[in-house]
Amino acid sequence: MRIVVLVKYVPEPTASWHFADDFTLDRDEIAGCLSPLDEYPIEQALRLIEAGVDAEISFLTMGPARAAEALRKALSLGGDRAVHVTDGGLRGSDALATSLVLATALRQMGFDLVLTGMASTDAEMSVVGTMVAARLQVPVIAGAVGLQVTGDTVTVRRESDEATEEVVAELPAVVSITDRSGEARYPSFKAIVAAKKKPVTTWSLADLGIAPDQVGAGAANTIVRTVRPRPARVAGTVITDEGDGAVALADFLTTSKLL
Ligand SMILES: Cc1cc2nc3c(=O)[nH]c(=O)nc-3n(C[C@H](O)[C@H](O)[C@H](O)COP(=O)(O)OP(=O)(O)OC[C@H]3O[C@@H](n4cnc5c(N)ncnc54)[C@H](O)[C@@H]3O)c2cc1C
Repeated sequence: MRIVVLVKYVPEPTASWHFADDFTLDRDEIAGCLSPLDEYPIEQALRLIEAGVDAEISFLTMGPARAAEALRKALSLGGDRAVHVTDGGLRGSDALATSLVLATALRQMGFDLVLTGMASTDAEMSVVGTMVAARLQVPVIAGAVGLQVTGDTVTVRRESDEATEEVVAELPAVVSITDRSGEARYPSFKAIVAAKKKPVTTWSLADLGIAPDQVGAGAANTIVRTVRPRPARVAGTVITDEGDGAVALADFLTTSKLL
């Protein structure tokens, strides 16, 4: 069985973002990392193997040259190999183009189960997995907190405030995994070293047979019109309890129209 985990290279959570003149993120200028939310689908893929599923795990990313760092991090957690789609023409691609590239690469790699994160930690659209499934014409189950594979089916557990659901799909399928699925593991030093020897294949747009005018900023259906830095935080109000704390708090909430 072939499991492919989609992983994205995103800016480090603490990094300051630089934007190019066209308001796209200048990814070459920002320190990046494996999207923290993509550690959850990786963890679930590894747990499937530990539960006895006979599978090869591959990682797939679309991103700049430095996105290879995200693949190495993924490979240090486990898995067998990785594919990196990188090409200057991809810069400024929207979610539709991203899904086109990933779906085309998945067809070329071969897959039975595709796992994704619940969202990237930069653009946070939560759409790429569903778009990939639509392009591949396979079932998609979003929001998994756990999964099992038996024969040709995947059984996914989803949790809401009101209920726990079990959703079953025939493979091949795409499943997105949430951050409530269980802690992701840390790589050992030995695994980090071993990951450097695992194969990473690099594909360009030409390798995938995708025309340059199908992707990139020129093909985007949506554009970022402006980018503004978040306003600086203002100091909060401190209420010191000198016997009248509860009244002062209630007054504050009433004045702020919160009560
Ligand atoms: C500064 C900035 C400017 C942008 N400008 C535009 C714009 O002008 N027009 C526009 O339409 N979009 C724009 N985007 C959105 C950008 O193209 C998105 O990154 C892309 O559409 C993917 O969507 P997402 O990151 O929200 O993924 P989500 O849908 O949130 O990701 C869900 C999951 O899909 C997988 N995934 C997502 N992306 C990848 C990837 N590249 N490789 C492998 N797996 C992946 C991961 O498993 C991830 O957990 C911009 C984003 C940023 C940060």
